[in-house]
Amino acid sequence: MGVALASAARVAPLVRHAPTIATYCSHSSLQIFHGAKQEGFRTLGICGGRPPRYYEAFPLARPDAFLAIPRLALLPRYAARLNREHAVLVPHGSFVEYLGPEKFAALPVPVFGNRKVLAWESDREKEREWLESAGVRMPKRYESIDDIDGPAIVKYYGAKGGKGFILAKDRRTLEGFRPTGPYVIQQYVLGTRYYIHFFYSPLSRDGYRVGNGSLELLGMDRRDEANIDELYKLGSQEELLAAGIRPTFVVTGNVPVVLRESLLPQVFDIGARIVERSIELFGGMVGPFCVEGIVTEELKFYVFEISTRIVAGTNVFPSGSSYADLVAPHLSMGRRMALEIARARHEGRLREVLS
Ligand code: ATP
Repeated sequence: MGVALASAARVAPLVRHAPTIATYCSHSSLQIFHGAKQEGFRTLGICGGRPPRYYEAFPLARPDAFLAIPRLALLPRYAARLNREHAVLVPHGSFVEYLGPEKFAALPVPVFGNRKVLAWESDREKEREWLESAGVRMPKRYESIDDIDGPAIVKYYGAKGGKGFILAKDRRTLEGFRPTGPYVIQQYVLGTRYYIHFFYSPLSRDGYRVGNGSLELLGMDRRDEANIDELYKLGSQEELLAAGIRPTFVVTGNVPVVLRESLLPQVFDIGARIVERSIELFGGMVGPFCVEGIVTEELKFYVFEISTRIVAGTNVFPSGSSYADLVAPHLSMGRRMALEIARARHEGRLREVLS
C-alpha cells in the first residue's frame, strides 16, 4: 500500500457502492463527465442556479443528474446529500476558485486527489518554496526595483487574469512605480509559452516511474490571453500606456501545441521533481497537474506557475492528443481520472487516490 490520503471511514461507502463522479458545471466539466461516462460512472453536475443550457447540446457529456443549489458558496450545506449520492468530487480551477481553496479543502466529501495540495498551490510563496526546493528553474525574483537587470513583470497577488500586471523593458520603466497592493517583481522570461498536462498515478507500475507510481504526459496547450495577445497591433507599449490601455492576461481559450521532441527529457525531469518533492512535503499529488512555463531561445524551460488539478487546456483533447494517443487510444484527462478511480476501487486502493 502506498500513501493513504483518505481515512478508511471516508472511502468505506465507496467500496460498497459505485461512486458518482461530481463536479461544478464549468471549466472542464464537459470533459470530466464525458470521461466518467465512458468508464461507466454515474455523473452529477453541481450548479449555482439552474443547470446550464449548453449541456443539452452535448449529450455525451451531459451529467446524469444535477444538484442545483442557489449559490456554489452554499455547497458545504449539501455535503450529506453528496455523500448519500456516493459522490467523488473532481476539483477544477473554477470549482476551487469560486468556492475558495479553504472551503473546498474542508468539504467532508471524498475528493479525487490530495486536497492538501490546494494550500501549496493557492499561496504563491508556498508554491515557489515547493518548486525551488524541487530544483525547478523559475523566473528570477527581484526583491527591489534596484535589483532589476533586464525585462521584468510586476504581478499583483490574487490579480485574476493578470489584471494590473506591469511589463517593464528595464529598471528605468519602473521608476516612480507606486504599488496598489501586495506584488512580486519577476524576470520577464522572453520565449514561448507551453502548458504541460501531466497525470501522476500512484497506482501504476508501468511507464515513466516516479516515486512508487508513474508520470504520464497527456497533452500540451497554449492559452489565448486577452488583451495581451493582440495588443501589439495597436502600437507600442508607451503609446498604449499614454492612451490608458494596459495589458491584461485574461484566458479566453486554448490551442493545442507540441514541443520539440528534444525538450521532452527536460519537461519530464521537471514533472518528476515536482511530484517527488510533493511526496516529501505533503504526501504527494495524485492525478492531473499542469506545468506552466516558457521556453527561451537557449531552449531552457522556466516554470512560472503550476496548477495542481485538471486545467481547461485539456479540453482541447476530449479523445486523445499528440501525446495521449501514445499512451492509450481515445484518452482524455477526464477519462484518465475515471480510469484511476475505477482501478483504485478494483484493487482496494481508494485511500491512495481520494482524500
Ligand atoms: P491565472 O491564475 O489566471 O493563471 P495569474 O493571475 O496567476 O493567472 P500568472 O499565471 O502567473 O498570473 O501569469 C499570467 C500570464 O502572465 C501568463 O500566462 C504569462 O503569459 C505571463 N507571465 C507570467 N509570468 C511571467 C514571466 N515571469 N515572464 C513572462 N511572462 C509571464
